[in-house]
Parts: sequence; structure tokens; C-alpha cells
Amino acid sequence: MRNALVLGGGGFIGHHLVNRLKGEGYWVRAADLKKPTYQNTAADNFLQGDLCNQDFCKEIFDRDFDEVYQLAADMGGAGYIFTGENDASVMYNSATINLNIVENCRQNKIENIFYSSSACIYNEYNQLDPNNPNCKESSAYPANPDSEYGWEKLFSERLYLAFNRNHKMKNKVARYHNIFGPLGAWNNGKEKSPAALCRKVAQASNGGSIEIWGDGKQTRSFLYVDECLDGTTRLLRSNLSGPYNIGSDEMISINDFVDLISDIAGKTIKKVHIDGPLGVRGRNSDNNLIKKDLNWSPSQPLKVGIAKTYEWIEEKVLNGESDFK
Ligand code: NAD
Repeated sequence: MRNALVLGGGGFIGHHLVNRLKGEGYWVRAADLKKPTYQNTAADNFLQGDLCNQDFCKEIFDRDFDEVYQLAADMGGAGYIFTGENDASVMYNSATINLNIVENCRQNKIENIFYSSSACIYNEYNQLDPNNPNCKESSAYPANPDSEYGWEKLFSERLYLAFNRNHKMKNKVARYHNIFGPLGAWNNGKEKSPAALCRKVAQASNGGSIEIWGDGKQTRSFLYVDECLDGTTRLLRSNLSGPYNIGSDEMISINDFVDLISDIAGKTIKKVHIDGPLGVRGRNSDNNLIKKDLNWSPSQPLKVGIAKTYEWIEEKVLNGESDFK
């Protein structure tokens, strides 16, 4: 039986990944500060602890793994990573986790780590035009990410790839672009825009209004979590190392995204634009490289995944649930 380790297995993407690997017949160990919030873990073995702690990391690597997925990071949506208030802990915690993991893998002769970097590494000056952002993998340098979260990701990408060069490892790096879906943060301050907008629309009455950060003309693309896992497992099991974008190239403005969610909800919603943390002006995944090298691209349009996500969040809103801790 093949086995896998999912670091960050209590988080949104990590929990989905554990489910996926169990479905494929793997023995799975997960490790995280916390258990998954909305569903019991399917992991055969869940170790709860702090990956910044070296003793905890040593405990995790008391056996061999065929596949290691490193998804643990101190992160959240724009309200968490773009306000500046969490910069020091985001950089310190995530860099410490990555340093611990790559060295423990090296010592245990585990060659193959998948590392989830982010579209937030791309430089701000290539993302000023909302209709024409440049997020080609090769455009990352000269570097100028717009957040400390992005700078840490860039450092850690280089760390994993340096271990490939100097220690003959086969680490893989992907830059995720706005992954969304059910079972993710939706109202605890760490939610991202798809979940936040679904929640606001679900809470609003037909003909009512919701608040949107900025003028809503900022553009993004969003990838449904199942598609993300397809790209992730395929990249880890390939001979490629990356970095590769894993995202959707269906770019949409936030205003149009609100209209799409309102249509799914069957509501007419007015948009009230207010000040808030924004991130870059435009961003879209450039999928040319991963399509060419790995033959991967998303298989479904945004509206399919966002309908499933809206349904999950609407049920929580209607039940008066909250994930505030
Ligand atoms: P998430 O916050 O739901 O999951 C991250 C997990 O890491 C959390 O469960 C958290 O408890 C855990 N963690 C944080 N610090 C830890 C520590 N010191 N010790 C142990 N566990 C710790 O985030 P996610 O959306 O599932 O993202 C997974 C990965 O993908 C992250 O590395 C993130 O930066 C990256 N990523 C995500 C997106 C996205 O849109 N979701 C986009 C780009 C990159």
C-alpha cells in the first residue's frame, strides 16, 4: 500500500487532499495545528502539533512516505495577509515550517515533496492593468510581490528547488491561484473572496445590498478545489519540478463575480463599494506552461464550482451556524 503525508491536513485544501488520497487507497498521515473544522478527518493517523517545533517534525518522520504534500502555512484571505498586522508571524511561521520540513525529508531520504506556493509571489507592476495581468511563471523576476506572504512563498520556492540542486531531491513547486470550494473558512476572518461573497449574498435578502472591498473592477481567477487536487497529485507524480501555475484562466471582475453568485442564489443584489484591503489590481493564471508540460488544465467553468460552494455556505447561513472561534 502506498502512503502519503499531508502537512496542513487540517486546513481547507489539505483536508480535501486527505479525502482524495484515501479514495485512491493510500495510507495517510496528516499533521496540523488543528483538526479539520467542518468534517472528521479521513486520515489513518492525524498528528496534532506545531510544525515550527523541531521535535514535533521529527515525530512525524518516524516512517517512510511515498508522497509528501507540504500545504501548512500561516495564511488567510485579504483581511489577514494584506493588512500588515500579521506580517511578522506569517513570514516567521511559514518559513520555519518549510525549513523544518525540507531538512527532515532530506535527513530521512524522502526526495519528493510537493510545495504549495502562491500567485501572490508575482510582482505587483505586472498586475496593474485589471484586463491584462501577466502571471507567466517566468515573469516572477525581478521580484516585487505585494505582500510579505508572497515574499515568504518566493523564499520557500527557492529553498525547495535549492535542495533539488544541492541534495538531489525531486521537490515540486506549484503556484496556486485562489482555490475555493466547500469545507473552507467562510466567516472566521480567514475566508477568501469566493466564500466571503457567497456568505454575503446568502445573508442578503432579494433586492438587498452587499458591501464589496474596492470598486469591484479588480479581476481574479478562481479554481475549484477538486481541479486543484488533480493538478497537485499529477505534478507530484511527474518528473517535473516547476514552479508551475495551478489555477484557472477564466478571469472575472469582482463585480461580475458577485452577479454570477447572485444569479445562482436567484437574487438581485446591489453592490456597495467600500474601502478595504485589496491586493493587486488584476490577476489571472497563465496556464500555457503546465498545459504544455503536464497536459493539465481545469475541466469545468467557474460557475459549476461556485454553485456547489454557494449551496454549502447558504446552508450554514440558513442554519445560523458560525465558525468563529
Ligand atoms: P488553510 O489555512 O486552510 O490551511 C493551512 C493549514 O496549515 C491550516 O490548517 C493551519 O492550521 C496549518 N498550519 C499553519 N501553521 C501551522 C503550524 N505552525 N503547524 C502546523 N500546522 C500549521 O489554507 P489552504 O487554503 O488550505 O492552503 C493550503 C496551502 O496552499 C497553503 O500553503 C497556502 O499558502 C497555499 N495557497 C492556498 C491558496 C488558496 O486560495 N487557498 C492560494 C495560494 C496558495
